[in-house]
Amino acid sequence: MSPMLSPKYLVVILIAVVLVATIAGAQDAPTPVMTLVVDETQAARRIAFVHEEIRVRPGMLTLAYPQWIPGEHGPTGPIQEFAVLRVHAGDATLPWTRDPEKIFSIHVEVPANTGRITVDFDTLLENTISDHQLLAAWNSVVLYPLGVDKRELMIEPSILLPPHWQQGSSLRVTSQVGSRVNFAPVSLERLIDSPVLAGEFLRTVPLTSSWPAELDITGDSQAAVDKADDAHAVTLFSQLIDQDRAMFGFRHWSTMHLLVSQSEGRPFDGLEHEDSPYCAVGDAGLSQKDELEKFGWLLLAHEQSHSWDGKYRRPAELYSKPDYQGPERTSLLWVYEGLNEYIGLMLATRAGFNDQAFAHDYLASMAAIFSHQPARATTPLVDTATEDWVLRTVDPAWSSLRRGQDYYDEGALIWLRADTLIREQSHDRLTLDDFLRSFFGQHDTEPIVAPYTREDVEASLSAISKFDWHTFFETRVYQVNSKPPTDGIEAAGWRVVYNETPNKAYASWFRDVYDGSYSIGIVVKKDGTISDVLPGTPAYDAGLGPHMTILAVDGRVYSGDVLNESVAHPRSGKISVLVRNFDSVESHDISYAGGVRYPHLEQISGSHDYLGEILAPRRYKEH
Ligand SMILES: [Zn+2]
Repeated sequence: MSPMLSPKYLVVILIAVVLVATIAGAQDAPTPVMTLVVDETQAARRIAFVHEEIRVRPGMLTLAYPQWIPGEHGPTGPIQEFAVLRVHAGDATLPWTRDPEKIFSIHVEVPANTGRITVDFDTLLENTISDHQLLAAWNSVVLYPLGVDKRELMIEPSILLPPHWQQGSSLRVTSQVGSRVNFAPVSLERLIDSPVLAGEFLRTVPLTSSWPAELDITGDSQAAVDKADDAHAVTLFSQLIDQDRAMFGFRHWSTMHLLVSQSEGRPFDGLEHEDSPYCAVGDAGLSQKDELEKFGWLLLAHEQSHSWDGKYRRPAELYSKPDYQGPERTSLLWVYEGLNEYIGLMLATRAGFNDQAFAHDYLASMAAIFSHQPARATTPLVDTATEDWVLRTVDPAWSSLRRGQDYYDEGALIWLRADTLIREQSHDRLTLDDFLRSFFGQHDTEPIVAPYTREDVEASLSAISKFDWHTFFETRVYQVNSKPPTDGIEAAGWRVVYNETPNKAYASWFRDVYDGSYSIGIVVKKDGTISDVLPGTPAYDAGLGPHMTILAVDGRVYSGDVLNESVAHPRSGKISVLVRNFDSVESHDISYAGGVRYPHLEQISGSHDYLGEILAPRRYKEH
């Protein structure tokens, strides 16, 4: 059935017309007013129907679909899912054309004596989490008049949910009629920053934190949401908000809505929002201690601390355009994401999602990657930030030559060194937390954006601890630096060592992978496919390459355990592997006798354990 013929949809249009009539106001007001009704009743079929009423003037009008999506740092708006566009002035159908150079822009000629048009389109495949849950990302369901500042373009949004579904979001509900939820008007910017999590099974849990906050949880069954607190997730999230307060001192929201979906289909996803960060964990993930440990730093703490680092404070070069058409510049992601990676590690550990030993394994795992990376000799860290979004979904093959989104983890290690420097220089009186409070906390505000430059970051650091921060970042971020970034770990009292014990943090993410990176120099999937080979290692010297499949090791059919046994006890200093490569089967001998090696941290004897202090819970102090 066509959505236009659905009786329910006609009701939507009628209500929308009434809304426009009531808020249109003066004819010549400079700010267009629009209503946006998103029909998600068919979410389980992976389709949404959008209806808009837009105040316009006669003449050429350009409508735009968001292209540069905040938090994704790139032109990743799902334009390919935008379909069956229809534009009308009254009963008249208006032809439209797509801009041949800017494919996110649509041109329409508005006839004389026309003050309002309707826009209808479908959004395909986006927003469905499962047949029981959806996340309405407003950027995927809005077409807006180009040329109006995103902070000033006011939109009155509504959503139609499947029967008996409920929603959680930071938008203010003005009324609810059946499954239609009407929200108070917001700017385009606030709308796109306020997704709606909805589901058949939704539970809202107030946190016990000293700042007002709630968890909005969905799942694929009543049981999944009922048992969401079995591993004390509510306590951990409450402690997380308390640790936010101890770190930043001030907030940029009234109530924090932590949106968390649990599903098998979307087990690891997330996007920052200033007062409603979204995270996706596995089915019933919140009730499992190991899932909370695994996701605490990289997801649950990370997305919400972006409220300060990334949303309230954002690189000016990444916030330079009046709308979402870009292009924006991403070179300061070593602050936006790199510092936030470090903040997330501190907050997740301080709040108790993981213990210090787990954090140590994370740090060791990062340091090991950057200590075995030939591309360090050619490519500065900032280049990974500038190249940015295209590195997000690349094949891991030859990762040490390509470099990945290293501004995250290498950024974190650099900020650990900044933290220890401040501690050393102030004789333990000050820490990086003092900078975080002055730079990201500042004072209480509503959700707004306060842009910054690299110079602002360096000046604010100097105000906390006088130092040549410009050179500090110049040599570590902007210039080629083949030295591995382990000086922060060492200054914090620890060093990277390798032994036979698997790295717990790495293993939590890559359970079915054989990680021989630091022994023979190879990473192998469960089925024997080589996903990466590190240059300069025994596997590389033996002629192995990514995408070859190991069939047998020392005459035995491949499994991770069989390969591990041979790495641990090689016969006469070599491991023989039989591999398939395209249509050939080849035999290779890996010369190796060094045993199994995984990275860990070991305390430097007699050193000051700064890392222990950095990762320990803090108490809120008024300054
Ligand atoms: Zn992030």
